[in-house]
Amino acid sequence: MSDMNAGALKFAHKSDANPSCDFDLVIVGAGFAGMYMLHRARGLGLKTKVFEAGSGVGGTWYWNRYPGARCDVESMQYSYQFSEELQQEWEWSERYSPQPEILSYANHVADRFELRRDIQFDTSVRSAVFDETAGCWKLETSDGEHCTARFCVMATGCLSTPNLPDFPGLDSYQGETYHTGHWPHEGVDFSGKRVGIIGTGSSAIQSIPVIAEQAEHLTVFQRTPNYTIPAHNAPMDPAYAASVKADYAGLRARAKTKPPGIDIDFNMASALSASAGERQKQYEAKWAHGGIPFMGAFGDLMLDDEANDTAAEFVRGKIRDIVNDPEIADRLSPHNVIGCKRLCVDTDYYATYNRPDVTLVDIADDPIECLTPSGLKAKGEKHEFDAIVFATGFDAMTGTLLRIDIRGLGGISLKDKWAEGPKSYLGLSIAGFPNMFTVTGPGSPSVLTNMLPSIEQHVDWIADCLDYMGQNGHERIDPSPQAEADWVAHVETSAGLSLRSTCSSWYVGANIPGKPRVFMPYLAGLPLYIEKCEEIVANGYRGFALR
Ligand code: FAD
Ligand code: NAP
Repeated sequence: MSDMNAGALKFAHKSDANPSCDFDLVIVGAGFAGMYMLHRARGLGLKTKVFEAGSGVGGTWYWNRYPGARCDVESMQYSYQFSEELQQEWEWSERYSPQPEILSYANHVADRFELRRDIQFDTSVRSAVFDETAGCWKLETSDGEHCTARFCVMATGCLSTPNLPDFPGLDSYQGETYHTGHWPHEGVDFSGKRVGIIGTGSSAIQSIPVIAEQAEHLTVFQRTPNYTIPAHNAPMDPAYAASVKADYAGLRARAKTKPPGIDIDFNMASALSASAGERQKQYEAKWAHGGIPFMGAFGDLMLDDEANDTAAEFVRGKIRDIVNDPEIADRLSPHNVIGCKRLCVDTDYYATYNRPDVTLVDIADDPIECLTPSGLKAKGEKHEFDAIVFATGFDAMTGTLLRIDIRGLGGISLKDKWAEGPKSYLGLSIAGFPNMFTVTGPGSPSVLTNMLPSIEQHVDWIADCLDYMGQNGHERIDPSPQAEADWVAHVETSAGLSLRSTCSSWYVGANIPGKPRVFMPYLAGLPLYIEKCEEIVANGYRGFALR
């Protein structure tokens, strides 16, 4: 990280060079990315404003308040590292902390660093248009308010636009409806209610066991079964927390050397070279540890179908062990590549199907026909519900950005530019859209990693770049079309090296009808990505035109 104070003086001087803009920087979004970006911008002395659609900070953790919501990266790692005091003082109560606690953490950070005074809540940015003559981004909000800024950072999130499929008859349904990604703040009491839930992704897998506890009856509509590994969540072990805090820097540094940016054990040996007994032992140990580290059991799980299937079959065996009814166990068993879709992490998910008040409806070959006034119709059968929960995911990675009318040089719209899929340089910037940055944008490791360190790495890169520009009298930065094209090709080649790009996941936009099928995140891992970002900076921001 660069020396913030030195940059501040230079920048205060430089921003006077373009007094026609209202702000040096506008940030869109006040999740973990927007909050940290604001903190860094202040350190640079930039006149900054943040617009946030919600009424509070926290982004994901502000919106996703469904029962059972919690992180799937352990809390000691799913947290900011930019402030040693912050990471020393904050106490997580559980191994995987629940949504309310993560939201409290976000609020604590906002208070501690006095962020709120520069954040305008309840305000969506509707459009951002680059004015070439003035050298400003012109933003318009949902209230019709206008402002201009020299730089614009889109901290709008990768999973921030809920996907509500266009089911026929959606409007005819008279009961309560909820989307996991837009949950009521006051909570929902399902006691005594007949509830239907559509979807079996991470959000559903976390919420189904909790809703089942409450509801009179829960019916789950499953299009594709998912692999899920038990979290083995528990109260935070104080000795473990103390040992991490005794050398937090060590843990953070180790995490940066691992592809997902999480300090976990990876066994690089081949699953196929191990004996059946060794494999079983290794998978049992990973299952007992729990969560995402399961995929670190062997080095070739995402490279070789046969190796992958040894892990997949182990999990299918666990499903057969846990679920009493063999026919339901079979329906719950995925047969695609494990780890291809985001691996889920659960508490009592499979066991929930042993409850007499939970029904699984497999709609793999027979989509939901329609919603009716009293429920929905699937496989020719009518189901009556007091409430329907849509756990149907997000228009991920590009959906939120494309809902803003973003126009760059020559009035070109981002929508047109990305008509065949997202194109960016490093997932940080887009050719033809000068002085605009995206935090964890498509083309960066983002959703394939622990997002907090990836967010911090991006924000630091952007802040250091703004500092560099201030120090060197640069007014404008824009990646060259060639550098962008080369990066896009590299992202595509990297995707092809792993089994992860082979299935119909939201990583490839397959969950949204008509979305171009492109593997959006950068798959080569966080360490290589950081190396590339640093090398580009060391070479005078190679690939960027600086004016
Ligand atoms: P967000 O938190 O999505 O914040 C973006 C903000 O931008 C939102 O508040 C939104 O309202 C605002 N915004 C968007 N468009 C506009 C606009 N036009 N105008 C104004 N404001 C706008 N990642 C992990 O690494 N580990 C986890 O355990 C984990 N768990 C998750 C659980 C759930 C339920 C979900 C949905 C995601 C999870 N993620 C997890 C990913 C998570 O999104 C990131 O970890 C992180 O919180 C993203 O922060 P962000 O600030 O980039 O985006
Ligand atoms: P998701 O993984 O996209 O799951 C959506 C589910 O809805 C899938 O089962 C999908 O089926 C189903 N679905 C979508 N459209 C449908 C339709 N028209 N008819 C029937 N079913 C339909 O979304 P998510 O569960 O919200 O999770 C998204 C991501 O957010 C996760 O992958 C993860 O990165 C993050 N997240 C993390 C956690 C955590 O554990 N901390 C919790 C929640 C979310 P198909 O699979 O067939 O498309």
